[in-house]
Amino acid sequence: NDARSEGNRAALFDPSAYAQWKANRDMVAELQHAVAAGEFSVHYQPIVDLDTGAVVAAEALLRWTRGDGTSVPPGLFIPLAEQSGEITAIGDWVIGQVCTDLYELWNAHQLPVTVNVSAHQLRDHLFADRLLSRLERTGLPGTALIVEITETVLMTTVTDAASTILQLQQLRAHGVRIAVDDFGTGYSSLAYLRELPVDILKMDGSFTSQQIENGGPQEIAFVRTIVDLGRSLNLLTLAEAVETPAQAERLRQLGCHLAQGYHFARPAPIGKLYDLLAAQSSRTAV
Ligand code: C2E
Ligand code: MG
Ligand code: MG
Ligand code: MG
Repeated sequence: NDARSEGNRAALFDPSAYAQWKANRDMVAELQHAVAAGEFSVHYQPIVDLDTGAVVAAEALLRWTRGDGTSVPPGLFIPLAEQSGEITAIGDWVIGQVCTDLYELWNAHQLPVTVNVSAHQLRDHLFADRLLSRLERTGLPGTALIVEITETVLMTTVTDAASTILQLQQLRAHGVRIAVDDFGTGYSSLAYLRELPVDILKMDGSFTSQQIENGGPQEIAFVRTIVDLGRSLNLLTLAEAVETPAQAERLRQLGCHLAQGYHFARPAPIGKLYDLLAAQSSRTAV
């Protein structure tokens, strides 16, 4: 081999990219056993009514603790699970666990739970059927569940989009509500909003910035626009990642209905949620 092909080979073999590929491949292999190994759990983060301060819902967030005790953040393993198709089995497990938890939560407090559903899960044409029969078997009404989707659910082929919309409509016909997660970060949020049957606009955490509590006019303008859009479309607006009392107060003044974030409570095992609900005397559900 001459020097030029050596050079090409060196350029093609990037050791850090290879290490990354190998780490991802190993993690996918681990993900394939994680459900059976009982390594997943679901934490819940309260969602609060900004006017009353009452907990009116909770978001189910997946947690993965591996056999060796280390945990992997969902931001890291969910994309891998989506690429590898493992998200189907994992998503089914999440919904099963949420229904189990929700049975008691709903009967004791009529508190709805929101669950994250990825575009991959909705590509399965029987997703809505399975979810609805699961709710029915558990003895739960559709209103007990809120499905969180991101705008990317429609960024596939036209046939997928049509089927996705049909499934969301089917869920809604049974009382399940739909929230658009990370709203405002997609490619063309407004166009998708026109196509999707939606109940709640979940404003991305990046809009709940430091600047809104200091009254930064540009930042306030974005929040105000999203809140006004929600209001004119008759949707509830929910702000994510609220970390300070000043942010919560500003969002309330701007007319945002709901919020979640470290200021109120971190995601935690369901026992924490029961403690909060017990401590709160009067409450109105979403
Ligand atoms: P998301 O649905 O937008 O969830 C909100 C994320 O913000 C959660 O991260 C939550 O822990 C975090 N968070 C809550 N309060 C605050 C705050 O005050 N400040 C900041 N900086 N962050 C806050 P988490 O749990 O790491 O989840 C990351 C993402 O993983 C989720 O984003 C969601 O897209 C995905 N995910 C989590 N659970 C599931 C699941 O069961 N299924 C699917 N398909 N995706 C999931
Ligand atoms: Mg979410
Ligand atoms: Mg979000
Ligand atoms: Mg997010």
